[in-house]
Formats: sequence, C-alpha cells, structure tokens
Amino acid sequence: MGGIRPDGAWRNWAGNQSSTPVRVERPRSEAEVVALVKVAAAEGRRVKVVGAGHSFTAIARTDEVLVTLDEMGAVVGIDQEKGQVRVEAGIRLFNLNPLLHAVDLAMPNLGDIAYQSVGGAISTSTHGTGLGFSSIAAGVVGIRLVAGDGTVNVLGPDDDPDLLEVTRVGLGALGIITEVTLQCVPAFNLYALEEVLSVDEVLDSFDELAATTDHIEFFWMPHTGLAMRKRNTRTTDAPPPSKSRRQALRRRWKRFKNKEIMENAAFGTFNHIGKMVPSLIPSLNGLVASEGDRAEYLTTSYEVFASPRRVRFYEMEYGVPAECGIEALRRVMDLVENLGRPISFPVEYRVLGPDQIPLSTSFGRPTAYIAVHVFRRTPYEDYFRGVEAIMDDYGGRPHWGKLHFHSSSVLCDRYPQWYRFQAARKLLDPAGRFTNDYLDWALGS
Ligand SMILES: Cc1cc2nc3c(=O)[nH]c(=O)nc-3n(C[C@H](O)[C@H](O)[C@H](O)COP(=O)(O)OP(=O)(O)OC[C@H]3O[C@@H](n4cnc5c(N)ncnc54)[C@H](O)[C@@H]3O)c2cc1C
Repeated sequence: MGGIRPDGAWRNWAGNQSSTPVRVERPRSEAEVVALVKVAAAEGRRVKVVGAGHSFTAIARTDEVLVTLDEMGAVVGIDQEKGQVRVEAGIRLFNLNPLLHAVDLAMPNLGDIAYQSVGGAISTSTHGTGLGFSSIAAGVVGIRLVAGDGTVNVLGPDDDPDLLEVTRVGLGALGIITEVTLQCVPAFNLYALEEVLSVDEVLDSFDELAATTDHIEFFWMPHTGLAMRKRNTRTTDAPPPSKSRRQALRRRWKRFKNKEIMENAAFGTFNHIGKMVPSLIPSLNGLVASEGDRAEYLTTSYEVFASPRRVRFYEMEYGVPAECGIEALRRVMDLVENLGRPISFPVEYRVLGPDQIPLSTSFGRPTAYIAVHVFRRTPYEDYFRGVEAIMDDYGGRPHWGKLHFHSSSVLCDRYPQWYRFQAARKLLDPAGRFTNDYLDWALGS
C-alpha cells in the first residue's frame, strides 16, 4: 500500500489520501523536469511532485500531472572539506544515510523514520528532537529549483541567499527542487537509553534533562500512567565489544524487541484487537509499556534516530513554544483521559531549537512538538480537533505533512514571515502551476 500503482493511481503511506493523475512523469534529469513543466504550462495543467508519500495531509495529492523523482536519487558530489553533500532531491534518507556514513559524514539530526525523500522532508519542515539542533531543512545550504515558467533557479549562500532561506521549506508550492546541498557533520554514534517510567516522573524532569541531553523525547502511553523516554547521547565511542556471543545476542534481541516487536509486530496486533474490542485498549497499552523496561545500546546515529514503522496510523503534530510544551501536553493528557473512548496510540513529545526559515514550524522559537496518533481507519476528528484547540492557546503551528484543520486565515498569524513566503511564491510560481487544493486552502490561492 502507498505509492504509485502501475495504472498511475497514487496513494499515501497512511492510505487516507489518494488520487488519479492524468499522467505520471518520471524525469531522469533536471532538463527533463524543465521540459515537463513547460509542456504542462502550455497545456494549462498543474504539476505536483510527490516524494515518498509519507505526508498525512493532502499536500502531495493531484489529479493533474504527478511527478516522481524516484529516478533522480543520486549523490551528485561530496565536498569533504566543507562536509557538504549535493544530492538529487528524490534520494530517500534510508539510501543517503549509509552513503554518508561510508564517507565519514552524517546528517546532524533526523526524525523517527528514514523513508522520506530529501525533497519531501525539507519541504514540510521535517524534524527530529534536541534543543541544540534544528530541522532537516535548516541544514540546506544550496537548492536548484525549477520555477513555474521552467526556469532553473540556483540558490546558495552566494546566489540569492534570501530566496534560499524561503525555499528550504516550500511545501512544494514554489517549484520542483531538483538538487539539494546539505551541510553534514562528521559521522557519529549515539548511545541510546530507553526507559519506561511513571509519566509524572518523566514530565517533572523533562525540561531540566532537555537542556543537557543531545536528543530527548518520550511517548506517553494513554491509560497506563507510563511513558517511554528515549535519551540519545552523541559519541564517537565505538560500540563496546560483547564479552560473549550470548551477551551480543541478548543486546541485539533487546533492541529488536523494542523496535520490531513492541513498536511494530505486537503493537499492530494489539491495535487490531483494540479496534474490535475497545474496552481492552487500556490493558493492551499496559502490555506495550511495562514499568522498569529499559534498553541501552550504542550504534551509528542514523540507525538510532530512525526506526521501521509498519503499523499504519493517522497523525497530527503541533509545535508550540518550548517553555509551554509540558503544560500543553498535560492538557492533552486530560483531554485523552476524558474523551469517552480509549486511545491505543502513544502521544509523542519532542523539542527542537529555532531556525529562521519563514514557514518552518520552529521559526524563531525553541519548539516543543506534541504529536497525537490513532490507528488507521479509526475516528480521529473529535480527538485531533480537541488537541488543536489546546494548541491554539499557545500559538501552535501544525506540521505541514500531518493532519490539521486550520487554513490560511488562521495560519497566517502563526508565522511572522508569512508574507515573505507569499512574495516568493508570487515570484516563482505566479500562475499557480504547483498548487493543489490543500495548498490553496493552507496557504491561500
Ligand atoms: C510513519 C511516519 C513517520 C514520520 N515521522 C516524522 C518525524 O519523525 N518528524 C517529522 O517532522 N515528520 C515525520 N513524518 C512526516 C514526514 O516526514 C513528512 O510528511 C515528509 O514530507 C514526507 O516526505 P515525503 O518524501 O514522503 O514527501 P511527500 O509526502 O511525498 O510530499 C510532501 C510535500 O513535499 C513536496 N515535495 C516533495 N519532493 C519535492 C521536490 N523535489 N521539490 C519540491 N517539492 C517537493 C510535495 O510536493 C509535497 O508538497 C512522518 C510520517 C510518517 C508517515
């Protein structure tokens, strides 16, 4: 499920967005992108690039010309001295990460998964966690973008840095990004510590720990009083040699148990059971997280940051000023406990440092991210709307790739540089070649 079918029909990963484009274009070069944009312009058709289809919103939906950059997923160049890598925008993070590792480089920070394309990840302000770090888009130091009239814009620190800043998070509304230059860091490992603790303990100590921990996040498990806290510390230490084969197997099993069984296989089964018998959800949640559970491991950064996600779900995520995050989360927890039906998916809490990208969800402020999820094909609107109303009290900004109900009339006040973005949109795509219904609604037409 998810992706482009042989008949051209498209569906996103979660299965809640689908479309039947008039045609699918699979360019292999920037010149082919330019050509297809010019043809579409001559026909008066709109054009939409899709990445990995991992957005929950209709941001990547189109019934007109769908463009996939799956044939444009190469590393174009590496500048070892600057620690920069130039990639075609269709490259998936799971392909890029090991390639970087092979040349002793790494992405400074990553989100929970690595299925996304680089073009898609930056366009929606995709982020991981850590107050000393920022979004993936903040590490973009160069972009090549095909605008609405087919012209190629080369943007970098010496070539229109102003426009570069805006296009780093462009929602796909500014043009087709063909190439991205990413600022990387020397390869590093992460020492991961995962603990299931009482949620009160996790909330009370969070802000203090966040100030001193490289990457910290937690998942509150509704109806259990428990949370799973993850702390990842950057290190160049190598994984410790295992004293015995048994110890090595035990370590590997523990990690497998966390990532594959509890986050995927068993979790999926529990959700199917919970969908049939909702009253069992609180007990099943208790099986997913047991107090005292703990795992420790040390491996390459990208293997710790990203996990497989095989259980499909729907998600909404809001960013609020970091200093209000825990208060906002406590209100979300009250809402969940009083919703009148059990919730089987955890609520995720992360933090991130600020950046200066006009439509970045962490523009100008250290940000706390609160993400709520439900098992796919289960009702979410009352829950997500209730959470959104709480986020309104903190000037919350919804993740562009995740479900939300606010449109441009509300969102324009949440971004101090909203009109700087709109000016860039007018400049690069005056005819609305790259818009779709979602973008008209979320950004204005
Ligand atoms: C299981 C799961 C886990 C997730 N975890 C996280 C997380 O930890 N942190 C987080 O912040 N988000 C997370 N997300 C959200 C995800 O990172 C974003 O939705 C991201 O945009 C998906 O990338 P994609 O390649 O699938 O883009 P798509 O969803 O295919 O496209 C998103 C937008 O990007 C545009 N776009 C794509 N490529 C280009 C291009 N070359 N030029 C111009 N525009 C382009 C599209 O037109 C569209 O508007 C998660 C999503 C899922 C399903």
